[in-house]
Amino acid sequence: MYSIAIDGPSGVGKSTLAKALAKRLGITYLDTGAMYRAMAWKALSLGIDPNDEERVKTFVDDVKIEVKYKDGVQQIFVDGTDVSLAIREHHMSKASSDISRHNCVRTKLVAMQREIASNQSVVLDGRDITSVVLPHAEYKFFLTAKAEVRAERRAKELEAKGNVVDFAKILKDIEERDYNDSHRANSPLTLTPDSVLVDSSNMTAAEVLEYILGFIKEE
Ligand code: C5P
Repeated sequence: MYSIAIDGPSGVGKSTLAKALAKRLGITYLDTGAMYRAMAWKALSLGIDPNDEERVKTFVDDVKIEVKYKDGVQQIFVDGTDVSLAIREHHMSKASSDISRHNCVRTKLVAMQREIASNQSVVLDGRDITSVVLPHAEYKFFLTAKAEVRAERRAKELEAKGNVVDFAKILKDIEERDYNDSHRANSPLTLTPDSVLVDSSNMTAAEVLEYILGFIKEE
């Protein structure tokens, strides 16, 4: 049994990499960002501002967040409702970044993440996996790329789906989330000294996958 921990900023391709790794290695993938998004979805469904810690506290203990897998694809449920698609809507990115600052939210989700990682080989991606959730993971990576490169990749994805793209706005959103995620008091995004730093600015997703696989001995 072993764990792979991957951290990095928004839009860097962590989940693409983690999914591909899980498939190649035949292990479980846990997208921890989806759990923060699910918490944000719950807050918004109750009309609660994700920044309002006192009001967030009123539902955190009782809300039931469940992670399930269908044909190897992660699904996420909030109190029995499948929110896997709803949490991907654009406004959920900022809302999840806002709600993820609160201690009550992180305590609950980190405990769930550790539980999932406790009895099987896993790859987890997020912001605090190498530093807080699985500091003793066998393999630790910090995936990064320049904000402009991440914004360009995001713009291309959106264009491919037929959207009209405002590049300046995409870049601003990414920079804002980078700032939020790395400056919060609670488990900020940090490069731990024992993580392998991978700058993917000039690499394709396939190149990143092969590079990371080079470190994994359990294949
Ligand atoms: O990775 P994703 O963009 O889906 O994550 C949504 C938000 O959840 C991030 O912007 C970040 O603020 C938060 N998050 C976190 N810790 C994690 C994963 C995500 O704080 N382990």
